[in-house]
Amino acid sequence: MTAPDSPDSALEGGHPRDFQSLPLKEPLLRNLADLGYKRLTEIQAAALPAMVEGRDVIGQAKTGSGKTVAFGLGLLHKLRVEQFRVQALVLCPTRELADQVARELRKLARAIHNIKILTLCGGMPFGPQIGSLRHGAHIVVGTPGRIEDHLRKGNLDLSSVDTLVLDEADRMLDMGFQAVLDQILAALPRQRQTLLFSATYPETIDALATRVLSNPIKVEVATAHTKS
Ligand code: ADP
Ligand code: MG
Repeated sequence: MTAPDSPDSALEGGHPRDFQSLPLKEPLLRNLADLGYKRLTEIQAAALPAMVEGRDVIGQAKTGSGKTVAFGLGLLHKLRVEQFRVQALVLCPTRELADQVARELRKLARAIHNIKILTLCGGMPFGPQIGSLRHGAHIVVGTPGRIEDHLRKGNLDLSSVDTLVLDEADRMLDMGFQAVLDQILAALPRQRQTLLFSATYPETIDALATRVLSNPIKVEVATAHTKS
């Protein structure tokens, strides 16, 4: 195996080690360099190449392992900013997590001009969310209950979504979101890329993955660590 700190090796165990060796769009790579993100974490190295190829991915890794950056780059790489419609939907169990994901996505998307990332979470007033939805967005990040509420009321059109991210899927199921998730899934195109992340992998998650993902690659990372 390659020595972990060998500076001139871009590959380790067949996985890329450095962001700059990934086939990502130039503005994303430049922004990563500006952010000081150099080396990929384990989950990023294992999952990003498959995501960029358009594969469905199941990622099992703890909090802090770099999952948001992994799926964020995957979806931003394929996003077309000139097409102003919701292309990616990220579902998170709580408002705090959704806000955190939206913040990280905005940071990663800094070099993409005019990109709109909208957060739709429960516990927040409807009025401003409806106003923002009328203006439109490229990416929607939110909690399942509020997303389903907007769908049911006809405020939100998800017919152009080509990337679905289920973040912390185990927590969403623990919180009883299964039925709501099914309603959201019914409003999404079948032809799409689905990325599912979970810290644990109980049978319920396996069943969800089997129903929702198609021919996925499963990436497992035992310990959380972020290297830079
Ligand atoms: P997770 O979703 O697994 O909890 P995040 O993607 O939110 O993890 O990453 C945790 C923290 O590490 C964030 O502050 C993020 O900006 C930072 N980070 C993630 N990947 C890298 C990397 N490859 N290099 C440097 N910092 C990173
Ligand atoms: Mg996360």
